[in-house]
Amino acid sequence: MLGGTFDPVHLGHLRSAVELREALALDRVHMIPAAMPPLRGEPRVSPDERLALLRLGIADTPGLVADPRELARDGPSYSADTLASLRREVGDEARLVMALGHDAFLRLADWHEPERLFALAHVVVIDRPDHDAVLPAALTELLAGREVEEGEVLMAQPAGKLLRLRLPSRMAISATEVRRRLASGLSVRYLLPEAVEARILARGLYRHR
Ligand code: ATP
Repeated sequence: MLGGTFDPVHLGHLRSAVELREALALDRVHMIPAAMPPLRGEPRVSPDERLALLRLGIADTPGLVADPRELARDGPSYSADTLASLRREVGDEARLVMALGHDAFLRLADWHEPERLFALAHVVVIDRPDHDAVLPAALTELLAGREVEEGEVLMAQPAGKLLRLRLPSRMAISATEVRRRLASGLSVRYLLPEAVEARILARGLYRHR
């Protein structure tokens, strides 16, 4: 699972999903837009529009899935609930991984039911440029005894461990910068898939701050 606001999806998300799948030999990477992200402001465009952009971005990429399951739920989108729903589908034996970027990881201890996340899945942290910071004390406590160094060790069990991954193409692309550029009328070419860019421009999305 790679959850996010995807406001909008960009090549940092998509390339990370492809490389994550390869690094851990995953069957699928479910990219799951949050309807209502609990820890940040209201996204700029509707959940359905963010999902449509995600679908366009993924197109026919093998192994990537645009998964709408959080959009059907009312209330805040808690990852623990999403993982529980994935776990019900794949069964107790399957390896389930929640991937997130280092910036999101730094706030993990503030998430809803953080211990339950580890009961349901592994956590894999994707390095992002410019996101090296010291871990908060509550996070260090949450992680005690969970960190492993190798993907094989992680994948030897269904859940409960933490792995930090430096994927080959670390990309300094953020949705914040994409929105800022769109609001300023600057180019976003090569930051997003062309089909995503075309839809955003045709619909005038993110044009106003
Ligand atoms: P924003 O700038 O609006 O905060 P974002 O670009 O971080 O957005 P999100 O939708 O919040 O995008 O990210 C979803 C997940 O993807 C998060 O776990 C985030 O850390 C990760 N992610 C986003 N951009 C990258 C990137 N360039 N490389 C690796 N991971 C990324």
